[in-house]
Amino acid sequence: MRLTEQVSKLIEQKKKLFTDASDRVWEFAEIRYEEFQSSQLLSDILEKEGFTVERTAGEIQTAFVASFGSGKPVIALLGEYDALAGLSQQAGSSEFNPVAPGGQGHGCGHNLLGTGALAAAVAAKDYMVTNRLPGTIRFYGCPAEESGAGKTFMARKGLFDDVDTAITWHPGTDNGIMQVTSLATTTVKFKFLGKSTHAAAQPHLGRSALDAVELMSVGVNYMREHMIDQARIHYAVLNTGGSAPNVVQSEAEVLYSIRAPKSAQVRELFDRVQDVARGAALMSGTRMEFTVTGATSDLIPNPTLERVMHRHMEELSPPIPTAADIAFAKKIFASIPEPDKLSAAQRISREKVAKLHDNPLLPELMPLIDGSVPMSASTDVGDVSWLVPTVQCSTATWAFATPGHSWQVVAQGQSPHAHAAMLYAGKSMAATALEVLMNPEIIASAKEDLKTQLAGESYVCPIPEDVHPPQPINPLHSQAEVALTR
Ligand SMILES: [Zn+2]
Repeated sequence: MRLTEQVSKLIEQKKKLFTDASDRVWEFAEIRYEEFQSSQLLSDILEKEGFTVERTAGEIQTAFVASFGSGKPVIALLGEYDALAGLSQQAGSSEFNPVAPGGQGHGCGHNLLGTGALAAAVAAKDYMVTNRLPGTIRFYGCPAEESGAGKTFMARKGLFDDVDTAITWHPGTDNGIMQVTSLATTTVKFKFLGKSTHAAAQPHLGRSALDAVELMSVGVNYMREHMIDQARIHYAVLNTGGSAPNVVQSEAEVLYSIRAPKSAQVRELFDRVQDVARGAALMSGTRMEFTVTGATSDLIPNPTLERVMHRHMEELSPPIPTAADIAFAKKIFASIPEPDKLSAAQRISREKVAKLHDNPLLPELMPLIDGSVPMSASTDVGDVSWLVPTVQCSTATWAFATPGHSWQVVAQGQSPHAHAAMLYAGKSMAATALEVLMNPEIIASAKEDLKTQLAGESYVCPIPEDVHPPQPINPLHSQAEVALTR
């Protein structure tokens, strides 16, 4: 029996365990660094399956590493499980219909992501047991992918240092290898401190921190003409200094996200943004402080691993949606704004676009391309990919053109088709992990690929040493325990 067939059987045997876990994580819908229930559920499952679990990995309460086996090679499966704020939505509804208005929801499908990777780890372990294979399979419970840079902190702690290959996936609208590069990013909070006074009686004595925020914005706007096209600088004012115009604002805060294709380009832009902030402080007579709140590196693709994983995806072939799956997907597709559909349709052929109204769940596997395409988004998988040869696939989990971080993603997060797409990803990852585990020459070639792509550069963690992951209080602990640990 082929490896893919054996792995497929192993995953099908425990299908209910996996789909139930994904649905539970969907219900928990915990945001970055607060995934206490989700990480506990997934680590408990792995412990019962015979993995040794290290909880609170890399100083993060909701991160964990579950290992099975011993010695080299070490194959890592990366799982995420954080939700997003403001995206509460009923499962199975094709209209915007929040469970709790303003509540949290799995708007990026990380309930499926974490559990699909867990399914792969369990199946690979089962296969190793039956076939008495040496080596180590590890599941990395990676919290806070959404603007939290969980893996970046984990990478800085050296958690991936002995890993030979990392494998993961992301739910999406296509079946295929994610042959993409992502944007490196740094998110930084600028705080301005001025002097408050009565704005009419003694304006000459006041120094406005809000003025500094505005001047900084003007300065950054002028920068935009003189930076590379692919770079992006976004901002959000966190604190305007109050709602009274007749009181000079003594304090104001603005959050900036700086993105560019390469980490070195982000570092250069970040230096310039700091200069602009210093200038704004000088002009307004205020004082400026900044804190980096998160940062991720760009993604390094790995052609060797992409070929291995693609072959397994082909052998396994994507799941065929049922009539009910298609009917639901059509309703979701109808709810997606036309501009989103037009933009997504540019990626696929006209013949495929014509068929979308009959079935928006793309059934085929995308062929491998030469090289990679830039993705206008950032991910902390990038940091792992600088250290370890890394590969990712995507499966057609959602109706075509479903935008990321939308209520439509949450609505589709417990659907039978999403489950099937998750299991397809799990099987593809497990087969890839096992083939790599059994063939040291693949690892050697993948490491050679990484070396070539880095072209002499080495990993620099984009988060400064003095910045640590947030430590929210675990609500699962009893009050007494909390009192003791504080
Ligand atoms: Zn995501």
